[in-house]
Amino acid sequence: MGVRDFRELIKNIVYPKDYRCVFCKWPLEKEYLCAICRDRLVEVNGEKHIKIENETLKINYIFLYSGYAVELIQKLKYKGDFRVGEIFAEYICNFIRSNNLDYIDYITYIPMHKKDERKRRYNQCRVISKYVSENCSIEMIDTLIKKMRTKDQIGLSKNQRFRNLQDVFKVKNDINIKDKSILVVDDVCTTGSTLYYCKKELQGLGVKEIILLTVCAR
Ligand SMILES: [Zn+2]
Repeated sequence: MGVRDFRELIKNIVYPKDYRCVFCKWPLEKEYLCAICRDRLVEVNGEKHIKIENETLKINYIFLYSGYAVELIQKLKYKGDFRVGEIFAEYICNFIRSNNLDYIDYITYIPMHKKDERKRRYNQCRVISKYVSENCSIEMIDTLIKKMRTKDQIGLSKNQRFRNLQDVFKVKNDINIKDKSILVVDDVCTTGSTLYYCKKELQGLGVKEIILLTVCAR
């Protein structure tokens, strides 16, 4: 993270309520997207079905990874613009409400390796989940850790990506979510392998229901 981005991050922490459109900077009342920019952000609310091993993984997503959605992801991931986390949380809470998922016990998220998180200073999936938790009054818990750093997935075949992630995620000690319903939040989903392995780990804890949600799907 460069000095400017770091300053941006600090600014967002010190002045978190800068109500201007994140794209065109138009002053707003209690939101971060003006009506015009919001219209350009196409909400899909789709489902992706990915066959991995003998399982068909159902992944819910809000946006396709293109256009304005990519810009938002980048603002959050590389510029530390946490207002984007709030925007995404708003869409996710709408997803929860419109699918009658208010009964969910917990929200959790895809972890980063601690070295990568230290470098970025935050995990964008955790940031989004935290705002969802505040917005929807569903408790957020840290359930998973990423044990190993994974090589950049870019340039790898689907099979290589899949193998690359085996044994990478692990559940934290002392997590008791037996018979609970849990929503797992990711930012961008490509092959589904990350969500697949995280789901497997959580299943090992005797969870009742796991709902997978990614903000953007490729
Ligand atoms: Zn705007």
